[in-house]
Amino acid sequence: MRLKSLAKNTQNNQPIPFARPDIGRQEIDKVVECMESGWLTSGPMVREFEKNFSEYLGGDVEAVSVNSATSGLLLAMEALGVGSGDEVITSPYTFSSTAMSILHLGATPVLADIDAASMNIDPDQIEAAITDKTKAIIPVHFAGLACDMQRIIEIARKHNLFIVEDAAHALPASYNDDLIGTLDTDATIYSFYATKTITTGEGGMIVTKNKAIAERCRIMRLHGISTDVFDRYTSTKPKWHYDIVAPGYKCNMTDMAAAIGLAQLTKADAFQKTRQRIKIAYDEVFSELPVILPKNSQDGDMHAWHLYVIRLADDAPISRDEFIARMSSEYSIGCSVHFIPINFHSFWQEKLAVTQESYPIAAKAFRNAVSLPLHTKLSESDIARITTAVTEILSK
Ligand SMILES: *Cc1c(COP(=O)(O)O)cnc(C)c1O
Repeated sequence: MRLKSLAKNTQNNQPIPFARPDIGRQEIDKVVECMESGWLTSGPMVREFEKNFSEYLGGDVEAVSVNSATSGLLLAMEALGVGSGDEVITSPYTFSSTAMSILHLGATPVLADIDAASMNIDPDQIEAAITDKTKAIIPVHFAGLACDMQRIIEIARKHNLFIVEDAAHALPASYNDDLIGTLDTDATIYSFYATKTITTGEGGMIVTKNKAIAERCRIMRLHGISTDVFDRYTSTKPKWHYDIVAPGYKCNMTDMAAAIGLAQLTKADAFQKTRQRIKIAYDEVFSELPVILPKNSQDGDMHAWHLYVIRLADDAPISRDEFIARMSSEYSIGCSVHFIPINFHSFWQEKLAVTQESYPIAAKAFRNAVSLPLHTKLSESDIARITTAVTEILSK
């Protein structure tokens, strides 16, 4: 007879959400300070957040804040001249916006399958997808694990392609001892969506060493106005004066969002350490189970551990869908799936003439993948409940 599990639903078992932002007094005080200052949209706090973000990455980069990573990807590629007739190679194993930002510029996303172990884009598949029209590559550092950037940079140099890194999961992560954001690429894009490693509610950051790209992004994020609104208060021209110099967008960050970001950024390293500690606790228990554990970063490098994605082994006793359903119904633990591949969505299937089976490694990864909660608000007892639940469900 099976004993009734302590991890199972009882009245004192509060639901464990899949993700939860870690907002404290510091964030709240900073937002109040912003609201009391009377300046709500892009202003001094946005400036300070950009300066601190650049310094966090070592100071040798320009940081341009935006209202989302999606906007950041679009602006960075626009600044690089990506447009109609161009192809941009990216991973099928990402959120739709990576590919959508390419499409919105009039260019065509070309997908290249992933490597089974890392779940990151496979450099051999990038090479196979290059045509005369290829203009750029967007590697996605899935879950916070850096892509094989040495090979990707070599391929880009050989074929004269731009690289825009989708680093939505990768704050902070490193590759060959260098922080992501400081590599020899054209731009790196971060997300501060509510579930990401640090948050501003909604927000993103474009990081680049190229001053011309940064300048173009600054103009295009705010209507194509030559100088931003805050500048107008320090300019010698009359305050009402501005000039539209390009067909810009509207995707600047607010000072209220930057206020949250200023406080969150000071905690980014501590957050990473906490997630890594939870990851180690998970690995220890799950290594005995019929699952593929997430791949570690190479020795000496930092994995951001934004996500902890296990894949159920082929001999696991139940299906992925059933696993997630039981985690929820029997244990009140929220799980998720990262990602439903680009080529599994109806819009993309039609647009790119692809099917679920076009990228077999991504398809297999998706069918077995489960993202477990991995956030800094998990208590020791939450972690114990999660490891017990996974063990009970997967033990035959
Ligand atoms: C979250 C995410 C994005 C989009 O970020 P937003 O800030 O919500 O626009 C892009 N790429 C990946 C891989 C993501 O996970």
